[in-house]
Amino acid sequence: MKYIRDTTGRLSQRPHFEPIELDRECERVVFEFLRAKFGDVRFPIPTDALSILIERDADELDMYADLSGLGADVEGVTEFVPGQKPRVKISKRLSEDSRMENRLRTTLTHEFGHVKFHAPLWQVDTLTADMFGKRPERMSISCKRENIVGAPEYDWMEWQAGYVCGAVLMPHTRVKALATDTLNKDLRQGPVDASSTAAGNLIARLVDSFQVSADAARVRLIKLKVIADRRPGADLFAPDR
Ligand SMILES: [Zn+2]
Repeated sequence: MKYIRDTTGRLSQRPHFEPIELDRECERVVFEFLRAKFGDVRFPIPTDALSILIERDADELDMYADLSGLGADVEGVTEFVPGQKPRVKISKRLSEDSRMENRLRTTLTHEFGHVKFHAPLWQVDTLTADMFGKRPERMSISCKRENIVGAPEYDWMEWQAGYVCGAVLMPHTRVKALATDTLNKDLRQGPVDASSTAAGNLIARLVDSFQVSADAARVRLIKLKVIADRRPGADLFAPDR
């Protein structure tokens, strides 16, 4: 991780992570958490456990928030408060409807990304505040449905939270092991076409193994370069630069 200038104006400087750094840290956190809670590492992660993961590092988690005033497509909010732990709100539309469970799971893990990787920037001591040039001000980020699993790279906060969402629900070593087995090939040979039958079979296995939507599984496989979407304009999920 390194600090670079924040062109969105939220902070003077912001953290830049290589995807592999996020993958390794998320896998470490998730494996440790599951081992401590359940005695072993098994997937899919239970939905309840995802909220416990947030509660460990947040002051408040409201699972039944009315976020309709922020726009129809806002499903989660993380509020960063200087010197305090963050506060997280999840739309009640997701928590109250069991048909929305996959969306609830991705929204929880997306907000966990903000809690784990961004909230510490608001808990800075005076020394760190000097490095940022000023103390960050209180801020809320409203997370829209289309950015939960993958956001354009110009919005670094949403991009990183989207990456974390996939990395927590579908840890990289587990996905790669499934991919090697399903595709029956060495992944170093390069990605397979996202529209192929083999890619479709692999997406189905991820959906089953990790309790995610086909869309979330597909985005995760593209980010890990296991499959590639070769359609024009499909580079939406390019890494954070
Ligand atoms: Zn977000």
